[in-house]
Amino acid sequence: MSLVADLETVVGPERVITEPLRLHLYGKDAGLLRGNPTVVVLPESTDEIVGIMHVARRHDLPVVPRGAGTGLASGAIATEPAIMVAATRIRRILDIDPVGRTAWVEPGVVNVDLSRATRPYGLHFAPDPASQTASTIGGNVATGAGGPHCLAEGTTTGHVLAVELVTGDGDVVTLGSEAPDPPGLDLRAVAVGSEGTLGIVTKVLVRLLPNPPAVRTLLAGFDRIEHAASAVGDIIAAGVVPAALEMMDHLMTVAVENFIHADLPTEADGVLIAEVAGHPAAVDADLDVVRRIIEANGATHLRVAADERERATLWKGRKSAFGAITQMAPDYYLQDTAVPRTRLAEVVADVYEIARRHGLAMMNIFHAGDGNLHPLVAFDASEPGRLDTVKQAVDEIVERCVAADGALSGEHGIGLEKRDLMHLVFDDVSLDAQARIKEAFDPEGRCNPGKVLPLDARKPELGSKVPS
Ligand SMILES: Cc1cc2nc3c(=O)[nH]c(=O)nc-3n(C[C@H](O)[C@H](O)[C@H](O)COP(=O)(O)OP(=O)(O)OC[C@H]3O[C@@H](n4cnc5c(N)ncnc54)[C@H](O)[C@@H]3O)c2cc1C
Repeated sequence: MSLVADLETVVGPERVITEPLRLHLYGKDAGLLRGNPTVVVLPESTDEIVGIMHVARRHDLPVVPRGAGTGLASGAIATEPAIMVAATRIRRILDIDPVGRTAWVEPGVVNVDLSRATRPYGLHFAPDPASQTASTIGGNVATGAGGPHCLAEGTTTGHVLAVELVTGDGDVVTLGSEAPDPPGLDLRAVAVGSEGTLGIVTKVLVRLLPNPPAVRTLLAGFDRIEHAASAVGDIIAAGVVPAALEMMDHLMTVAVENFIHADLPTEADGVLIAEVAGHPAAVDADLDVVRRIIEANGATHLRVAADERERATLWKGRKSAFGAITQMAPDYYLQDTAVPRTRLAEVVADVYEIARRHGLAMMNIFHAGDGNLHPLVAFDASEPGRLDTVKQAVDEIVERCVAADGALSGEHGIGLEKRDLMHLVFDDVSLDAQARIKEAFDPEGRCNPGKVLPLDARKPELGSKVPS
């Protein structure tokens, strides 16, 4: 049977996409690179995904899982002939347990829809990536997504209790459980952040947190971005962990202000959005500490959002920042790294120096409280050689962050774009160990091949060494 006919027997002809124009739409995520899936399938159940995996085995084709395609690491693209499995139609919220504060959801549920559905119970799903109106829970789990409010509440890995996964063999396994402290190895943690390389996430048990009774949001401007970075370190050192602590630089502030008209301090070199949340009395006390530290670091602008409307506008600006910069250039490349908060000020200065040396316009907007850095280069890819210069500059930035004891990715994952930089942070033994874990879930290498792990990660000559 032909591949398409075989897939049609599993999901029906309407949910198998073969037209070139529609396939083209699945050729890219929000990252830089482009692929070309052989066929895209839109399953609606775990059983259908098992069926698709068996078809893939019969035709010896890889499978590329995909959510909403907002990933920024080119992880959800097919760079070789492959079946793309877009999980956007398997999207039911199966069960909300307001007493146990958990929910079982399917992977295609859009992040913001989950917190909307749990609002009547006074609960929310804490990870809130800036893409939350589009990105899916499956994609969030696969990338281990962060978000502005992950500073106090933690990133996705802390909010996933169990994951149902269809492995490369077509087996359905549940990793983790509803029990508070399940025995055995924590394979759930292995699945979170595995970027589709171990299998397809088909159900997720998430933790829900109570909505805070009081929230205050403060906006501050500084005449040097390093002062804003120092304020971030000082706030955490003072023992206050704000709900969110976001930073943007001058160019980004101008772009966002042109987009949302929220009276942002466009003359500032660095802008901070700090949010404190919790019991009203504690919130006022924390706000005072944050305000004093911001003033001590020389803020030239400081205001507290007067009401929910002003607060919502500030967050809309923050979360639509990448859309805002499309006014400035036809293309952008967003890099994502993380450094220890104490090194933030020093690394931020070096990042601008690297951009200047390469003659590039660079902007920054990031979850500063987490030590995330998101240097964003706006450019025109049609200019000969420009893309190569951009790539060279961002690779230098990654190397600078790693040299400052930073991480390769703060939250967007490795995908294809940073796969070949993995050796900067992992030695051969560690890469081989990760490749062996992949083999255990996916012995035929069917799931999202070529992503995350360098192609030579598996080193049989090492035997079964354990990374130290
Ligand atoms: C404007 C904008 C803002 C963003 N802000 C943030 C942010 O604040 N924090 C953050 O962490 N990220 C952010 N991102 C990146 C992106 O939104 C996240 O990585 C998100 O988690 C991806 O979800 P998705 O549904 O779009 O997944 P996709 O992009 O479709 O896929 C991402 C990866 O997950 C895998 N995958 C998807 N679904 C499944 C599944 N069901 N089973 C197994 N693997 C799967 C894919 O193979 C791929 O490797 C932003 C992106 C944009 C465009």
